[in-house]
Amino acid sequence: MKTLKESCFTLSTKLLRKDLQKARNKELVEEEYLNFIHNGKPSVLFYSIEESFDGNTYLVIDFNGEPQRILLSSRELTYGTRTYLTCCCGHKTNALYLKNTPESTFFACFRCHNLRYKSTTINSRSDHGRMLYQQSKRLELLDMRESIPRPLYKSKWTKRFQRFLKLCSQSGLFNQVKDARTTMETIKAFQSQ
Ligand SMILES: [Zn+2]
Repeated sequence: MKTLKESCFTLSTKLLRKDLQKARNKELVEEEYLNFIHNGKPSVLFYSIEESFDGNTYLVIDFNGEPQRILLSSRELTYGTRTYLTCCCGHKTNALYLKNTPESTFFACFRCHNLRYKSTTINSRSDHGRMLYQQSKRLELLDMRESIPRPLYKSKWTKRFQRFLKLCSQSGLFNQVKDARTTMETIKAFQSQ
């Protein structure tokens, strides 16, 4: 059976925002820790950020055994630099997960851990179920939006962003779609001047 994403501890770039910022400024991040619940028990993990001799920067996690080294990848965006966590499969992401089982000790991406979203387990046929379903679907979409580094490329929506908009309109997140349409109209108007 697949594990629910919501039951896993999430190591996100949002959670590590300050440390990632420090690392970008070449400031030291050492012996930091995070408290969380793992497998029903209060747990702690230690982490630091180190620059390796190969020129790469790693987030080193010490949790119940072998330290895990997570490659940090930076991407230049129009509004500044963003740092992503790199899964062992090479996927760059905003979040890595720790499975909620006693034997689980390493962080990996959504796909590698074979996780699924809560919305897939809700019976959407009852009124209450439908409401819950829509709510968790919306949270998923907000996650998805977070993970799209570049919605626009050469004045056009990227494929990933187009897919996101399609899912938004299917799930009733019409504001996102409306905002996107307004942005595109503004760009078109600007280009035709
Ligand atoms: Zn992965």
